[in-house]
Amino acid sequence: MEDRPSRLGLSMLLAGILVAAGCAIVYELLIGSTSALFLGGSVEQFSLTIGFFLFSMGLGSWFSRWIHANLLVRFIQVEIGLAWIGGSAVSILYALYTYTGHFRYGMLLLIVCIGTLIGLEIPLLTRILRQYDSLRSALANALSMDYCGSLFAAVLFPYLLLPFWGAMYTSVLTGIVNWAVGLAVLLTFRRQIDIRLKRMLYAQVGAVGAFLLALLFYTQPLVGAWESAMYEDPIAHQEQSAYQNIVLTTRGDQIRLYLDGHLQFASVDEFRYHEALVHPAMELAHAKKRVLVIGGGDGLTVREVLKYPQVEHVDLVDLDPAVTRLAARNPHIARINQNALNRQQVHITHADGFAFLQRDHPAYDVVLFDLPDPREEGLAKLYSREGYEMAKRLLAPGGVMVTQATSPYYARRAFWCIGKTMEAAGLHVVPYHLNVPSFGEWGFQLGMRNARDTQIEFSAPLRHVDAHVWEAMKVFSGDMGRIATPINRLDKPVLSRYYREDWSAWF
Ligand code: SAM
Repeated sequence: MEDRPSRLGLSMLLAGILVAAGCAIVYELLIGSTSALFLGGSVEQFSLTIGFFLFSMGLGSWFSRWIHANLLVRFIQVEIGLAWIGGSAVSILYALYTYTGHFRYGMLLLIVCIGTLIGLEIPLLTRILRQYDSLRSALANALSMDYCGSLFAAVLFPYLLLPFWGAMYTSVLTGIVNWAVGLAVLLTFRRQIDIRLKRMLYAQVGAVGAFLLALLFYTQPLVGAWESAMYEDPIAHQEQSAYQNIVLTTRGDQIRLYLDGHLQFASVDEFRYHEALVHPAMELAHAKKRVLVIGGGDGLTVREVLKYPQVEHVDLVDLDPAVTRLAARNPHIARINQNALNRQQVHITHADGFAFLQRDHPAYDVVLFDLPDPREEGLAKLYSREGYEMAKRLLAPGGVMVTQATSPYYARRAFWCIGKTMEAAGLHVVPYHLNVPSFGEWGFQLGMRNARDTQIEFSAPLRHVDAHVWEAMKVFSGDMGRIATPINRLDKPVLSRYYREDWSAWF
């Protein structure tokens, strides 16, 4: 067999490196982001993913020393192997999460398999190019193509691949790209490959090609089946936005909204949560003209705010246009939020809440943080001392802010860490809690610019909260009582770790 490429094949090989490097980065990002979706803690998941990928690539490079001949054949087989495993990577992760209790081990094994194959690519190609050129040029060409391909794919992934195709299709289509690289190299160099090996390669290319086509064809039903297995009720709406996976489920009249698999509200008892979040702050504030809601794209917090005729202006700042669009247009949600997002007092801004707080705005009488739980460091910044200091700066004298603060029972350290962090921002803090059956025991931290009496006669029509219930909400039993924690800072975000550790003891 002849491994030496023709001059004509050189550009083919270089293009192959460029494309294969792009595929490698996409697999890495897919595994990191899918693991963060299932397990939370993007810093932890991406650290593990990158670390194990690099280690496995080192393994692959080291193993390449045992490949003495048939370099082109081995390179084609590496591409076919990557197409097979990489193409099914996200399906494997979904299946691991849905059907086994061993997601972490499966994910690491997957990374080691893919990373080892990727680690073989550059040494093999450099040696093939080396037969054609000096080592100096071969290495320079191989590595520069490799890094360019990585950059290209890393930029495409968040802006194009994930939002338009979703993780599962991106995985399969990237597998098909690896497969196409293998096939193209095989066709380009077919005359230089021994007939017996060539037959074997055609068979492998054919089998993996058929597998990927079948996977592509069944991706939609597979995603549907796995997602249904993850949710209790039938899915009425599902979309992958640039920021999160949005799922709306229905059971009779009831609806539930999930973001990245985490329940945001259940229509059956959401009134308990939203009454508790909104009304104590609205009643304690000296005025109610201008209200800021950070998060809350489902419109349910705004619905409660609009129960006060004094409200003139509500700024709703949500990261994700897909959520507010759904909440404004989907008949199920619009019915529950009473069309709140289409009311003339409501002004919607699509931005990161933290970035919004950094800018100057006319003062607000009430600031409500209605955000997903701080399981990610990216979200925990909105529960940081710096975040609360910025919110306090925007509060009018006599103004009040409040945040949902996870469960004082299931995530006790996280709950009290949020309160301590608000105190560190110079606020007078009132912690309180209630039972929201679909969430469990749930807590809030309310912060005021100045200390004052917190008795309230509620004026809005409410189903759950009243003056007596409010007094009881401020009492904590011993098993939920205050515990000492450090504060959550931008530079030292302890909260998301507390949150994940506390919850993992229960679920
Ligand atoms: N009640 C809910 C809970 O208990 O988790 C929160 C519901 S609400 C739907 C959460 C909203 O926060 C989502 O619409 C999401 O898009 C938004 N969000 C997430 N991160 C954000 C950020 N950094 N800035 C602004 N909004 C954000």
